[in-house]
Amino acid sequence: MKEYSVVLFFSNSNIFPQEEYEKRLENARKIASVYGLELIEDIYDHTAWLSFIKGLEDEPEKGKRCEKCFEFNLARAAQKADELGIDHFTTTLTISPHKDSIKIFEIGRRLSDKFLEINFKKKDGFKHSLELSDKHELYRQEFCGCEFSR
Ligand code: SF4
Repeated sequence: MKEYSVVLFFSNSNIFPQEEYEKRLENARKIASVYGLELIEDIYDHTAWLSFIKGLEDEPEKGKRCEKCFEFNLARAAQKADELGIDHFTTTLTISPHKDSIKIFEIGRRLSDKFLEINFKKKDGFKHSLELSDKHELYRQEFCGCEFSR
């Protein structure tokens, strides 16, 4: 099995309102500290995200707006990986049973040849994430992230 030296990247301009963003970021900081990992924090630019998904506000969850949302965040990760000379990147989005990993992989591949297709749902990944959340007393979000999913 391949081993990687992991760096975390928190880039979630899709999240609204900002208090919700701060709450999730705080939990990312907590988990970075538990595992002794570096956490790189992107800027929060919800206005840029809103203009990227413009016209798709009324799309249902799992629809076209979500595809654009994945594209926005994965493009940020690809750009950061290039900037820092990181060889590969992936996304924890695939842990969610509500997220289509095949679609995420398609977008990741299109954006960068550094993208690794890892389906974190596999092998009871989601169940394991719930156990870890309990163990570390992490905040569990009640909606996906943007105002349209609230
Ligand atoms: S529902 Fe979730 S994935 Fe879809 S646009 Fe909103 S934040 Fe992004």
